[in-house]
Amino acid sequence: MSITILRTAQQVRSWRLQCLFNKQTVGFVPTMGALHAGHAHLVRASMKQNDKTIVSIFVNPLQFAPHEDLDAYPRTLERDLGALKGLADAVFVPKVLEMYPGGIVLDVENQKGAFVSVHGCSEQLEGAQRPAFFRGVATVVTKLLNVVTPNIVYFGQKDAQQCVVVKHLVRDLLMNTEVAVLPTLREKNGLAMSLRNEYLLEESRDQSAAIYRGLCAGKTLYEQAEGAVAAKDVESAIREVYSTLPAGWEVEYVAVSHPDLLEPLEMVEPGIGATVSTAVRVPKAGGGIARLIDNVQLV
Ligand code: AMP
Repeated sequence: MSITILRTAQQVRSWRLQCLFNKQTVGFVPTMGALHAGHAHLVRASMKQNDKTIVSIFVNPLQFAPHEDLDAYPRTLERDLGALKGLADAVFVPKVLEMYPGGIVLDVENQKGAFVSVHGCSEQLEGAQRPAFFRGVATVVTKLLNVVTPNIVYFGQKDAQQCVVVKHLVRDLLMNTEVAVLPTLREKNGLAMSLRNEYLLEESRDQSAAIYRGLCAGKTLYEQAEGAVAAKDVESAIREVYSTLPAGWEVEYVAVSHPDLLEPLEMVEPGIGATVSTAVRVPKAGGGIARLIDNVQLV
């Protein structure tokens, strides 16, 4: 099976219109490329639930701060297209000027044009570390949804805060799209699949399994209580596991947050539940640091 490669917004609009004429539903999976099994898992779900599936591959400059290395982000288009052949119906691979017709600079102070911010759920957790990150995500997702207008858009639970930001965005801007969030795909040892895992030494990859193991210890504590539990007790159970992480690794945060608002919780209560998330800084194989993020849901 071949795949339709679309490079401009206009081409995507024509493709979408054709689907509409054919009364075909459309599922959409936005990505930044360098595809792995975690991405494929979203694409397969979309293929199952929709008549047509389109994937976008776009390394969004707006979500990189000037000190983050946009140029170093892996671009593996040929390999990605090969992986998508037979898996999806169409792929949108725009150039930067297609998505930012006025051009874009990374320095927020000097940016000109229209941008989208989702207040209240963008500033904490990942947003505290990367202040303009979710503005970049919300802006590009808005553009992509304007162009594709899918019936369903797919995101991975792995990026829990991104899912909350996008859900608020779609609700508040009255977009006619359903947001589907799929479970995190993991390595055999429990480590959440991520491009960043590639940067780790074999030994660190094994040791990184403790990140998820810690989160699971927090989840078990809550589940065994069969009732409300103090957030600090969930956090302690996680930090106890993290006390065994190798020297030089840094736990940036462990947070127990309201699942829809991402505000810090004092108590986790059945019926409301919580998102329990963490970021751990792990030394990379060639020097530098990889930030590994993960989360579990308490229900
Ligand atoms: P990215 O290319 O990193 O922007 O990711 C594209 C989409 O794939 C996002 O919705 C991610 O949350 C999702 N994704 C990345 N890794 C995983 C994973 N291990 N399991 C499930 N979804 C994932």
